[in-house]
Amino acid sequence: MPISMIFVWTLFGVLVLAIVVGVSVALVNRYRVVKGRKAPAEVEAPPAEPPSEQPTGEPEAEEPAAVVAEPEVPEAPASRMARLRRRLAGSNNALARGLAQLLSADRIDDETWDDFETSLITSDLGVGPTTELVEKLRGEFAIDGVADPGQARTILHRELVNLVDPAMDRGLNLDHPEGRPAVILMVGVNGTGKTTTCGKLARVLVAEGHSVLLGAADTFRAAASEQLQTWGDRVGVRTISKEEGADPASVAYEAVQAGIDEGIDVVLVDTAGRLHTKTGLMDELGKVKRVIEKLAPVCEVLLVLDATTGQNGLTQARIFAEVVDVSGIVLSKLDGSAKGGIVVQVQRELGVPVKLIGLGEGPDDLAPFDTEQFVSGLMGE
Ligand code: GDP
Ligand code: MG
Repeated sequence: MPISMIFVWTLFGVLVLAIVVGVSVALVNRYRVVKGRKAPAEVEAPPAEPPSEQPTGEPEAEEPAAVVAEPEVPEAPASRMARLRRRLAGSNNALARGLAQLLSADRIDDETWDDFETSLITSDLGVGPTTELVEKLRGEFAIDGVADPGQARTILHRELVNLVDPAMDRGLNLDHPEGRPAVILMVGVNGTGKTTTCGKLARVLVAEGHSVLLGAADTFRAAASEQLQTWGDRVGVRTISKEEGADPASVAYEAVQAGIDEGIDVVLVDTAGRLHTKTGLMDELGKVKRVIEKLAPVCEVLLVLDATTGQNGLTQARIFAEVVDVSGIVLSKLDGSAKGGIVVQVQRELGVPVKLIGLGEGPDDLAPFDTEQFVSGLMGE
């Protein structure tokens, strides 16, 4: 073989070797970054590698479940609410459709009103509020006429806002005596979104500057406290939990005691919601609440209701309201429901406001309830 060929082959070999080594180094580095990260990268968090004390030491020893030092900053409440509005408006919701039909009718007769009434009921507004609203609108439209669809919309918007009741106080009560935390008890049927809401709410409270602690009083399944723990780790707050089957009241007690010892502002207590017997539920929740109150006031009992369950949700609400003094409602899964009229029904039923709404499974998918934005979304505006 001529010398020149040997030279070319050697050069080629060196090149291939260089490429192989380069790719391997890149892959190893990438693996290290992924391994070093705590949670799956759901947000573009900066790598935030603390400066190592021994730069030449072991390549990144595993940190034992260290909490996130810098909590992530949640999306602003206003933009979260705007997202709901878009979702409600974008969905093919019954109310928006009914309204469009009403406004496009050549002549509004009894049949047109009946159809409109049906679409209101379909949106889960409930028979009582629907009848009230239709009577009110019929009256107003008879006086002013509906020649101008814009005006008709304005009237409907105003009346819906009145039904939802803008005067209700929807703020969370976090008042607590010196040296004791404000305790929020999360209650509701299984699967409605209690644990998820605890996690999302903890995130909001931490971002507002409160110190928070989680109590995993759903001891029915081990997975339940693990799920809460995962949310806690994600937000950088401690979760107090016990083994599966432990007494829920004792977990709640320990969580609040830890809250006192550590000077925590808010303790969020997640509970189980098995509804096999009402007496069982009553005993368990009643005991959890009584035991907590030996240490600190329960400032909020938030009932989590799944917006997609309609009348079933209302039945659950009634049962829970008999067992504990519900102070606010969290309406979860509004992202999956084009209805939303349930807000009016459940508030009437329990006489307490919807304070928070769940818009999805993500960490920022919880928003304070805003009447105006909600009605705009419901009307497809
Ligand atoms: P729990 O049994 O009451 O504690 O309910 P979980 O918090 O475990 O939630 C049950 C399921 O509902 C989970 O898959 C959650 O991700 C999901 N979920 C909770 N809140 C919402 C929400 O607002 N929207 C949607 N789409 N899913 C939700
Ligand atoms: Mg749960």
